[in-house]
Amino acid sequence: MRHFAIVGSGPAGFYTAEALNKAYGERARIDILDRYPVPYGLIRFGVAPDHQSLKAVSKRYDKVAEEPGVDFIGNVTVGRDVSVDELLELYDAVILAIGAPHDRKLGIPGEDLPGVIGSAEFVGWYNGHPDFADLGPPLDGTHAAVIGNGNVALDCARILSKTHHEFEGSDIVGHALEALDGSAIKTVTILGRRGPHQIAMTPKELGELGHLEESSPVVEAADFPPVEADDALDPGHRKSITILREFAATPPDATKPRRLVFDFFARPVAIQGDGKTERIIVERTMLDQNGAARGTGETYEVPASLVISAIGYSTPQIDGVPYDERGGKFRNEGGIIGNRLYAVGWARRGPTGTIGTNRPDGYEVAEQVASAMPAGSGDDRAGAEGLKALLAERGVLPTDYDDWRKIEETEIGRARPGSPREKLVRVEDWLSALGG
Ligand code: NAP
Repeated sequence: MRHFAIVGSGPAGFYTAEALNKAYGERARIDILDRYPVPYGLIRFGVAPDHQSLKAVSKRYDKVAEEPGVDFIGNVTVGRDVSVDELLELYDAVILAIGAPHDRKLGIPGEDLPGVIGSAEFVGWYNGHPDFADLGPPLDGTHAAVIGNGNVALDCARILSKTHHEFEGSDIVGHALEALDGSAIKTVTILGRRGPHQIAMTPKELGELGHLEESSPVVEAADFPPVEADDALDPGHRKSITILREFAATPPDATKPRRLVFDFFARPVAIQGDGKTERIIVERTMLDQNGAARGTGETYEVPASLVISAIGYSTPQIDGVPYDERGGKFRNEGGIIGNRLYAVGWARRGPTGTIGTNRPDGYEVAEQVASAMPAGSGDDRAGAEGLKALLAERGVLPTDYDDWRKIEETEIGRARPGSPREKLVRVEDWLSALGG
């Protein structure tokens, strides 16, 4: 019997479990570990609450979890409760699927001022992530800014711009909906350090901004290159630029009280304020020959009593696991970190790609494992039994599949598309749902 530990229960972890289960069948036990008592990682904490269709994929992961050879072991933090070396003693292979939950730093003066928050924190807050239940983003000012031109920046800007009514059918957590209902924000500025052609936003997500109940997009036509330049773009990207051009050609809707302003060629150089953020100092940029942003020396101020930095994520380090600082991920060759140690998903590739990108990724790494460790051999590792004994010695109480189901039924009903969560979400809340 082979024993495999997958660390992280987001899309990358579940696709890898699915692939290993297909490859080994009854000849392997696959344990999916997570630091939280319930699974799904990015699906639960990252996907926007008003994008319910993207969450439906969790049903596929449910099926994987129901397979007899697959187990969920939650409430266990690898690197704290158990080390990677200990897991390698207990399991034939360990696959790190811990994603990239940390915000990259801006590296500019003032980024630690109150009111400046990373997108992982803000997204975690409105999605009921236990670490961010008390974030309390300041929503009492009239101006907010989101730094970055990717889909996460779009998610944050859209959530700040929606009305209560527009969250119907979403699963936004109660504390966030209540706070957003009282928001005074009238202008959300999205700052991109390069131009419209360099955005990393996809058409569907951009298009949504044209249909908001109370907010109208504002784009400067002068920021675009000549329209012929769009021909060189790939079709998806061209579609995004066409949507931006339409926004630029349409005057903001005077009946809508809020604005969503795209400020291109705008690089934040400092954040200032008296004890909290009040404004961003922005330098106007132009593109150099390599398409990188080059400062022009001209600066101006963008008022913002809330700044959300959505400039990308990194994977946290784990003791003893080689790390690629530049890429913000584990150092690996095609998913192989070292002997019997693998990485999948954002921990392998860095924080790019959609949920679906993790499927081929997980299958590829599962193939590597299967070719290195043929089924039918390897029967001397302790697997889950050994892990549970070790955790018991350390006073760690893992949750299992039944616990996870019970928590979801009694407390939060989360990751069931369309079911809203009423309560603040904390790990203690989840565990108390188990009855002590
Ligand atoms: P991303 O797509 O890599 O975008 C990051 C943005 O931050 C880029 O515009 C980048 O500009 C900018 N940036 C980086 N460093 C900066 C700095 N120091 N100052 C100013 N701007 C800076 O990352 P993401 O938005 O975090 O998204 C991560 C992945 O998740 C992406 O693949 C995304 O498509 C996916 N996602 C998908 C959805 C969806 O499908 N609905 C939703 C959310 C996320 P440069 O280009 O100039 O570097």
